[in-house]
Amino acid sequence: MTDAAPLKLFNSLTRQLEAFQPVHPGEARVYTCGPTVYNFQHIGNMRAYVFADTLGRTLSYKGYKLRHVINITDVGHLTSDADAGDDKMEKAAAQQGKSAWDIAKFYTDAYWADIERLNIRQPFQWSIATDYVPRMIDFAKSIADKHCYELPSGLYFDTSTVPDYGRLARAATEEGEGRIESVEGKRHQADFAIWRKTPEGETRQMEWDSPWGRGAPGWHLECSVMSEALLGLPFDIHTGGIDHREIHHPNEIAQNQAFSGCGSLTCSENSGARMWMHNNFLIDRGGKMSKSTGDFLRLQVLVDRGFHPLAYRLLCLQAHYRSELEFNFDNLAAAATRLKRLVMAVAQVRAQGSATSDVSDPRLQDLLARFDAAISDDLNTAVALTLLDDAVALKKVDIGQKLAALARMDAVLGLGLLTLDRADLRVRPANAQTTAAEIDAELARRKDARANKDFATSDAIRDALLAKGVEVMDGDPLGWDWKLDV
Ligand code: AMP
Ligand code: ZN
Repeated sequence: MTDAAPLKLFNSLTRQLEAFQPVHPGEARVYTCGPTVYNFQHIGNMRAYVFADTLGRTLSYKGYKLRHVINITDVGHLTSDADAGDDKMEKAAAQQGKSAWDIAKFYTDAYWADIERLNIRQPFQWSIATDYVPRMIDFAKSIADKHCYELPSGLYFDTSTVPDYGRLARAATEEGEGRIESVEGKRHQADFAIWRKTPEGETRQMEWDSPWGRGAPGWHLECSVMSEALLGLPFDIHTGGIDHREIHHPNEIAQNQAFSGCGSLTCSENSGARMWMHNNFLIDRGGKMSKSTGDFLRLQVLVDRGFHPLAYRLLCLQAHYRSELEFNFDNLAAAATRLKRLVMAVAQVRAQGSATSDVSDPRLQDLLARFDAAISDDLNTAVALTLLDDAVALKKVDIGQKLAALARMDAVLGLGLLTLDRADLRVRPANAQTTAAEIDAELARRKDARANKDFATSDAIRDALLAKGVEVMDGDPLGWDWKLDV
């Protein structure tokens, strides 16, 4: 175990790098805000889960027993982060003419498929919000008297009843994104609904009885309750995208403070998690990638254009999670080429032997120690990747040890280097007119023609392939004999 460097992580709560000190010795308990399943996740959303997975893999690699929970929000998230607007699920159901439950199932399955394609490990538990509604009602009951007030539209949390409300947010509390819409009767603009009553004369597809009338839980309540239920308070790390630092997480913290009854935020125990970590946005030329802009990029779009999903994972790892990352297809193509080189080089090593259990070669030990230092430095995956490159390039070294070192690195990076082959990376673009088997058969025919010095046939085959979008690459340094152009 290369655990020499102490693991330091950036805590958004203190805005500092802090040494990771688990609440329960030897264990790491992590909660990740998951998707609202009213639509597909775009690749920006998936960056948040690649980050959480890298964090989880790092904690496992450092020897902690990982207990990771990711939630699925299938009720309660409104179209606006303020307390007005429709429930995203009910709105999508109405638009698509399906039940809210069917919508939730369909998009949860689509999300899980993307999780698998990005080599994101299964968490200890997926928590589904609608499974926890009775517990949410109990939680709300326990804080209602001291911290909440009722309005005709529901039960609201009074943010002035907890110290330091909004300390996590960068903006002053009342200025955060999405705080503009207000609900009549709220005591403070930042107050938020923890239970929303179904309006008089209406029925919602997803609604439950509660002491405050029939209705549905607020989105912030869900995460407080599920994290407390599955990880206990306090737990170690809470993650999400940087937008959650402004409203959703400050509101979770306020509820956790109320629930655990402990005073100021300097008591890390009562904010719920000791550390709050946030990934920055994936942006494109137009700015932050979002679902509201209609046509948005999801993983399947990249696959349809002939890119292996792990090329996107590599693209994410090339940037630090706290930096903005600009997406464009040129960057993705460069990441795909880097992945191909890695996969082919590691496959060659694999072909020559199997991993040893120890790594005693001093050059490999040195690379592993530097890899450990990089990943322990707030998950510096960009540097870790260059050390992986160095390990791959190392010559005159015991093959078994080299493979063992590469395996340790890939356990953190999750690029599938121990199982992928170059053929796996040939993703057939959706609009390609031919199959890989057909291309290979044609190329075999072309090879024979060239061996017989029948250059006319050989050229004709190449031109016919080109017409179908297949570029034949004679003498390609990467050893790719063909590629599909789209
Ligand atoms: P949502 O389904 O909207 O609740 O978002 C799921 C996750 O994706 C949350 O952690 C968001 O903070 C995160 N997220 C949303 N947009 C982006 C983006 N463009 N880049 C990175 N993360 C994002
Ligand atoms: Zn959440």
